[in-house]
Amino acid sequence: MIEHKDGGRQRVFVAGLCHETSAFSPIPTTRNSFERFDYHRPRNGQPDRHSRALNGYGAFVRSAAKAGYEVYASTYTFAQPSARTSRAGYESLRDEILGDLELAGDVCMVLYFLHGAQMAEGLDDCEGDLLSRTRQIVGDDCFIGALLDLHANVSAEMVEQASALVACRNYPHTDFDDRAEHLFEVGRMVVENKAAPESHLLRVPMFGMFYTTEPLMTAANQAAAELQDQAGVLSVSLIHGFTWANTPDTGAGVIAITDGDRDIQEDLLALGQSFFRARQETLGMRRSIGQILDEIEAAPESDRPFVIADCCDNPGGGAGGDSTFILEAILDRGLSGFALGLLWDPLAVEFASDAGVGSRLELRIGGKTGPAAGLPLDVTAEVVAIHDDLSQVGIGYRAPMGRCAVLDISGNSVILNTVRGQVFSTSCFTDCGVDLNGQRALVVKSTQHFFDQFGPIARKVYYCETPGPLSLTPDARVLNRIRRPAWPLDEVDFPGTPG
Ligand SMILES: [Zn+2]
Repeated sequence: MIEHKDGGRQRVFVAGLCHETSAFSPIPTTRNSFERFDYHRPRNGQPDRHSRALNGYGAFVRSAAKAGYEVYASTYTFAQPSARTSRAGYESLRDEILGDLELAGDVCMVLYFLHGAQMAEGLDDCEGDLLSRTRQIVGDDCFIGALLDLHANVSAEMVEQASALVACRNYPHTDFDDRAEHLFEVGRMVVENKAAPESHLLRVPMFGMFYTTEPLMTAANQAAAELQDQAGVLSVSLIHGFTWANTPDTGAGVIAITDGDRDIQEDLLALGQSFFRARQETLGMRRSIGQILDEIEAAPESDRPFVIADCCDNPGGGAGGDSTFILEAILDRGLSGFALGLLWDPLAVEFASDAGVGSRLELRIGGKTGPAAGLPLDVTAEVVAIHDDLSQVGIGYRAPMGRCAVLDISGNSVILNTVRGQVFSTSCFTDCGVDLNGQRALVVKSTQHFFDQFGPIARKVYYCETPGPLSLTPDARVLNRIRRPAWPLDEVDFPGTPG
């Protein structure tokens, strides 16, 4: 048991407020968006079974309790990525957490699970705002640690106000629990006077997507892990950034937490160079739907399905999840044997449900959230199945899918649903009665999280570039607030990086 200096156990405060904000998302965000999607508030700060099971946050609670600390468990909430949160919505969640922090009294450690790229109306840096208000409450001597999504856009204020920022390493994000446990251990060393944390941020002048399933990013992650293991280094994180926030803090970087004033500049630069070397890797994997369908049409038959990622219409990056570009191309070519999910279209789901299983109807699907979703498709569909209240489990989360309508459209299975969300679990198909191996190709609305479960079953994975809101095709007129110079908008000479 960890004794407080005045007797009693030392107290750790835990909360979570996660939202990835896209400046280009057509989907509004309010407090209700959080409460509807994933919101948990333990009673009187007492951790319960559900709070212990939460991704990241739960690992804080379990680690602190196991080490003998008392835990005050405040709100955990997560909204599907979308536009800026209403100012009132953000402030009510923030003030709920800060109110709990006041109630919790004397705490030695604050552990937050944040995203790192949350914006509200009139506020580009919600995390900087929350961390600085937290610092005002707990004072300079308290350890404040924040676990971030690697798609964070890290501000100077975040670095200054937190004692330690730690991001997940993997994309797909399969390691939040590991990184939460790591952050707790860093905090524990500080609280027990075994380390004095100093934060360092090196900005890497690039933005984009960087898949850690690929060789150059695997090497960069390995270099980050090796640096973290060196003497005098407490933690190292690669920050990938979230391009579509489109703020001056948007972009990549490296964060290191050292013990005291160990000189780390050279090591940081070498790691930044390793990261910068991987910049082209993901961009080079993108193909047009025409190129992908040509290859699939030419391929011999197989038991295993191809997987096509609809990268640019990923609800997990703020997109509508209802774009029609890929489905339209499949239907235009007269192809069959494809299965596509999840197309967000509550109205079409209602029509299909009302018509009933077995009915054939003329249906207008998709293309409703804005110009980036393409045009709606007018199709003749057979209603194969309706499933209520499905959810999917993967990468540490359980995510609601709502009501799902399985349609047969010209020999293709198309799953429409009522709760916007990206596909990261194969159960999105199997729970809807769609056999994975019976398909020529599975089309998933996801940028990379699908890879954890779909990669192992795929004959080959294709990453498709469409005109959607998460397009990697750089456009300086659209990305007009990003700090320049930055690759790929500019040719950048990041010191000493070959290639
Ligand atoms: Zn992310």
